[in-house]
Amino acid sequence: MSVYQADALVIRSREYGESDRLLTLFSREQGKLHAVAKGVRKPKSKQRAGAQLFTYADFLIYRGRTLDTVNQASPKESFSHIWGDLDKSLAASAIAELLDIGTVQGQPYPELFTLTLSSFFLLEHIDPALLQSAYALRLLTYLGYRPELLDCAVCGKTIHGIRIYFSPEEGGVVCSDCLGDNARLGRWLQAGSVAFMRQLLTSDVTKLDRLRWNDGMKKEIVTSLQFLCEQTFNKRLKSWSMGNRLANVGQNLSGKGGKVDERNIVDRTGES
Ligand SMILES: [Zn+2]
Repeated sequence: MSVYQADALVIRSREYGESDRLLTLFSREQGKLHAVAKGVRKPKSKQRAGAQLFTYADFLIYRGRTLDTVNQASPKESFSHIWGDLDKSLAASAIAELLDIGTVQGQPYPELFTLTLSSFFLLEHIDPALLQSAYALRLLTYLGYRPELLDCAVCGKTIHGIRIYFSPEEGGVVCSDCLGDNARLGRWLQAGSVAFMRQLLTSDVTKLDRLRWNDGMKKEIVTSLQFLCEQTFNKRLKSWSMGNRLANVGQNLSGKGGKVDERNIVDRTGES
């Protein structure tokens, strides 16, 4: 039986069989891969930590005929700051889900591995929604779907005005001439939100906390990026919808969410 190593992040963890978990790993060398972690739902399992969502570990994996199996996992980082804060864990889930739907198995994406790993670390001190938005724009760019955020995506003319039409169908902003009477799939955004998205895309990701946005822009940008990514990959982003719902509920609550129950996140991402 052949064995291989994977320096990888757990981006999805689903219950599998009686006591196993089916992991989706995103590795530095091989990109996305799936492997079963046997017996990790038993309370005394030594491999439990290595099967937890978001964990960064060195995996030793047996290649199977149909499914690979984790032989050993040596965790390097469990990102306790993510698990200690609801907003951070929702952003990490949103990042992991987007990475999962945007990539295919068996193809390496070294830039996306580095971006995801550094984003999980940066969640410790950077606004989670800011990081999630910057991540989405960068992921789209790496995969060849960089949205046009300055000139019209149809005719190339520079767009002015306080409201700008943003169309995932056209791959970015669309001028009023091109928009005409055509019904294009999209939405109107404040020009400030479009300018802010350009900053999110070009700023140093480690210095995102220098950028300032207000609640209106934040809501507009996060929901527009969800819309853009869902249209681009033709899949729903469940964790993004959940984050948006909780953000709305959060406006009526005082204080932040407490410690996160891993089961909720794991089981939600476990839906297929
Ligand atoms: Zn145009």
